[in-house]
Order: sequence, then C-alpha cells, then structure tokens
Amino acid sequence: MNCNLCGTPLDDKIYDSGNAKSLTSLCTVHAGRTQVYVCHGCAHVQSVAMDDIDAYYDDSYDILVDSEEEDQIYEVVAGQKVYRTEHQVRVLRDKIALSSGMKILDYGCAKSATMRTLAGLTPGLEVHLFDVSDRYRPFWDKFIPPERGATYETPAAWTGRFDAVTSFFSLEHMAQPQDALRKIAALLKPGGIFYGIVPNVFANTADMIVVDHVNHFTRPSLAYLLRANGFEVQDISDSAHRGALVFVARKLAQPVGIQAPGRDEVQVIAESAHAIADFWQKAGSRVQAFEQTLAADTPVALYGAGFYGTFIASWLKSPQRIRCVIDQNPFLQGHPLHGAPVVAPADLPVDIGVMLVGLNPAHARQVMDDIAAFAGRSLNYFYL
Ligand SMILES: [Zn+2]
Repeated sequence: MNCNLCGTPLDDKIYDSGNAKSLTSLCTVHAGRTQVYVCHGCAHVQSVAMDDIDAYYDDSYDILVDSEEEDQIYEVVAGQKVYRTEHQVRVLRDKIALSSGMKILDYGCAKSATMRTLAGLTPGLEVHLFDVSDRYRPFWDKFIPPERGATYETPAAWTGRFDAVTSFFSLEHMAQPQDALRKIAALLKPGGIFYGIVPNVFANTADMIVVDHVNHFTRPSLAYLLRANGFEVQDISDSAHRGALVFVARKLAQPVGIQAPGRDEVQVIAESAHAIADFWQKAGSRVQAFEQTLAADTPVALYGAGFYGTFIASWLKSPQRIRCVIDQNPFLQGHPLHGAPVVAPADLPVDIGVMLVGLNPAHARQVMDDIAAFAGRSLNYFYL
C-alpha cells in the first residue's frame, strides 16, 4: 500500500486491531480490522480503507439525519452548551470574509447545518451544496433552490465558478483525497479560497482508531496535499477548533513546485503517532483489567455517549453491567445506548459507585471535576 498523498510505500505500521472489533466514527461496531500506517515521505497518518467504503456512506452513514435540530456539543462553558454548528460558523466567519453575491460551495456537506446557519447570517450569499448521497436532499430543500445542490458528481457548469469551497469533517473519510482536491481546485476561480476542517489526531487521539477515517492529517501532510493541488497555504490552525485542524488555502493562478517535509519534521510526527497508537493498542486490556477488580454483579455508569464511551463498552466482558450512560447532550438523553438509558449527570442513580469515564483523556478529569452533580458522591472512576 502506498501513501494516498505522496505515493511513498507505507511500511511503518503503527496500529493493528487484529481480531478485535473496529469502531466507526458513528460509534457503530464494524466487523473489519483497523490498521494504521505513518508515511515517512510526507508525515501523513493513513488507515487501510474499509472494503465497502462507497456503500457505507451512501446507505448507512446516518450522521444526525434523525432531525433538523440535532447537533453535537462542542464544549460546555460555565454550564452553557456551545454546539458544534454554532462554533464552526463563528470560526469560518472569523477566518474568511463573506459577502452578498459570493458563490460558496460546501463539498461533502451532509445536512449542512453550518451552511444553513451561515446563509441566514449573510444575506445574498449564494450557497451551493454537494455530497455523495441523496439522503440529505430534504434538508437542503429548506434553504437552497434545487439547482444549487448536486449529488454524486458536480455539474460541468460549476467549473471555475466558486469564490470559496468549504469542507467540514469530510476529507478524513476519502480514500482518494488527491482526486477530491483536484476536483475542488477545478471548481474554484483563480484566487478562490478553500476552507476546511479535519480532525487533529494529536489532540483527539481516538481519531487514530476510527475505522472509517482513512486520513489522519498532520500539519505537514495537509500542507503537502494543498500545495500539490495548486494552493497556497494561508493558515493551518490547531487552536481554532478543539481536536481539529482548520485550514485556509488560496488557489494560485499558476501552480508552483512542491517539496515533501524535511526528515526531522517527519521523524517527530512519526514518534508522536507511534505513542498514540501504543496507547490504543493497550487501552482495551486496561478496561478489562479494571473490570476484573469489580465483583461480577457490580453495576457501573458509563460517562460519555460518544466514541470513547463506545470504546469502553466494546471491551467490557460484561457490558450488561452498564446501568446508565451519562451525557450532557439533551438530544441523546432518553434514548437507549449500550443497552442502557442515556441520562443527565443529575440523574446518576444513588446506588452507583463506579464511573467509567469515556472521554478524551486529555480533558476527562477536568470535565468530571466540573460536574456539580458528582460533587460529594463517592465514586470509583476509571479513566482511559
Ligand atoms: Zn506520504
């Protein structure tokens, strides 16, 4: 297998799930194996693509398709929830100037709550949408005319048409990112802006083992991809959106030659990637070792309805001991997950003494400390 960005043969495998089950970014179990490599040519971190990747996105990729308003929590500040869409719109407006008459295309847009919000804030902005599935059409119809939406292929008339193309959490799924970038570059006018956001595996380490994320972009590998497709990189930020890289690139009138990143830079990234992979290689055994310290009938609460919580649940020998899943997202509360109800922190049953914390270990302890409902409770915590 070769790097899908620079073509270098991939011979440094850093993670292999073996026979263990794989998890998708939607927190579902996938029968296939997860294998991750680091490229010593461009510092890209790349997973082996799922066999049935096209069918997976067309048929089973139900991201937030249940309702129009459903959204993910970005952060909770002083008890106030900030949703992901709201934050994405704020960062986009901060990074690029938008005005009436501008033509903007959200490429791989899904429901495109971000563009819907943006359109409402910028009168006259001509929003266009593209995705590889028809399933989101009913959402698009509520805020754009049908001719501004395209599925599977973009129309020929869109070539060279756009002032800006956006991509929110989409490039990480693509088995052929070079093809996507070539198409995006062709859709833009010279001088047009490509704005995007991808997961940052160094800040949100679970991204490493999500089986449907083929690409785990690093700062140099993302810059390489952009430059290889005729873009000037204006900004790659790892602080504008927690756990992600936000980039702004401009389409050059004339492409310039590109260089792979230096050996030292690649080496530093390869070592960091190995450390994250080692963490996940051992994490499942750590869950089981903790579980062995509990009596067979001890019930537990699982904190976190997202990926980290699903990882813990998937490794428990007795997942039926999960009495409830605790999550602050009101869209999830009341629904079943891992065979238990999702409840708010204040609804933790009084007889529960064990809390499995399914959160990013970088923030997990802080999040637990900040929950008023757990203060004064005597809980035995497990952290990833
Ligand atoms: Zn590479």
